[in-house]
Amino acid sequence: MFYSEYGKTGAMVSAVGFGGMQFDVSKTNEENAELLAYAFDKGINYFDTAPVYCDDRSEDIFGVAMKMMADKRDKFYVSTKGSPVAVDTADKAVELVEKSLKRMNLEKIDFYHVWCLRKMDHYNLAMKKGGQYEGLLRCKEQGLIDNIVVSSHLPGNQICDIMKKGEFEGVLLGVNILNFLYRWEGVQSAYSDGYGVVAMNPLAGGLIPKHEKEFAFLAGDGETPTETAIRFIVSCPEITIALMGFTTREHIDMACRIAEEARPFTMEDMERIQHSLSTNMNSLCTGCGYCRDGCPKNIHVPGYMQFYNNKPLFGKTDEQMIEQLKFELEWGILVEDTGRSGDCIECGQCEELCTQHLDIIRRLAEIAKMERAVK
Ligand code: SF4
Ligand code: SF4
Repeated sequence: MFYSEYGKTGAMVSAVGFGGMQFDVSKTNEENAELLAYAFDKGINYFDTAPVYCDDRSEDIFGVAMKMMADKRDKFYVSTKGSPVAVDTADKAVELVEKSLKRMNLEKIDFYHVWCLRKMDHYNLAMKKGGQYEGLLRCKEQGLIDNIVVSSHLPGNQICDIMKKGEFEGVLLGVNILNFLYRWEGVQSAYSDGYGVVAMNPLAGGLIPKHEKEFAFLAGDGETPTETAIRFIVSCPEITIALMGFTTREHIDMACRIAEEARPFTMEDMERIQHSLSTNMNSLCTGCGYCRDGCPKNIHVPGYMQFYNNKPLFGKTDEQMIEQLKFELEWGILVEDTGRSGDCIECGQCEELCTQHLDIIRRLAEIAKMERAVK
């Protein structure tokens, strides 16, 4: 396992982090807690959870594990989260921190996330006078938390804008080998400004292991696509921690093995991936973003086209596409407040710019029908 400093916090954290969102809920809290102790023995020293994970049991599982690992408390870091939507006042933010501390049997949380910024409005809510951030500053003064960080589903340029303000020590974001072009600007900017960058969802929500055949083109020499995807995140110098949700000891073993054996991802590797995404995903959007600017209706064309990828890539049915669209509009790539697919006036500007020569106008018309079904 290798370790690097989380931004400028002085915390030396493991390249692989333990994500507490995939516990087997058919098992007891005690059985699940043993996974944390096992991961610690394998060299993992960053443990992440949140109040609602795993039927709201994850923080309690952490609580059992923290008792088991109490004698090593100065050797690992714990992170949890609070949403500015749920805690919209400073007092509520303090209460939630205190509740998490109690559930986890801790005296201090090392990294506390302003959780799940999906729109700039959520950021503004967290930062308003008397809001969550103010409460977290109070907690910091009282020694209840060490570092205030942020988790975000925003596109790269907006992550960049937030991190430039210097209010957070680091950022947690969903980045992986398939979507990195969409978020890379934020990753690079946060890294070069000296902040910690934690990547969640390194296997694209399980898509890559489930569709290894379709993603065979991603694989490096002697690797499976899953292994390459993990190596990509683990060995990118810009990414401090690759956060993985573990259910079994075998998952931990695989992640640690890849982290230990990982060859660095070089610029050439990055170019190879970029090239293979565009050549092997021939009728697919690569998220390159070239069509991003200039739509007279401010439609998020890359977001819509990446959503549409689900159809040719995984053969999703109309029903499944509508379900996916619901998710993307609420949580995913389409949360931004932009023009909607049905606003397209067919001017053709995006098609001219598209590096993949996609029939964007036709696809948007198809998506517009689905979007009407969502509402
Ligand atoms: S064709 Fe539609 S989506 Fe493309 S730039 Fe014109 S209005 Fe925007
Ligand atoms: S230019 Fe084409 S491939 Fe690139 S983001 Fe836009 S739609 Fe996708």
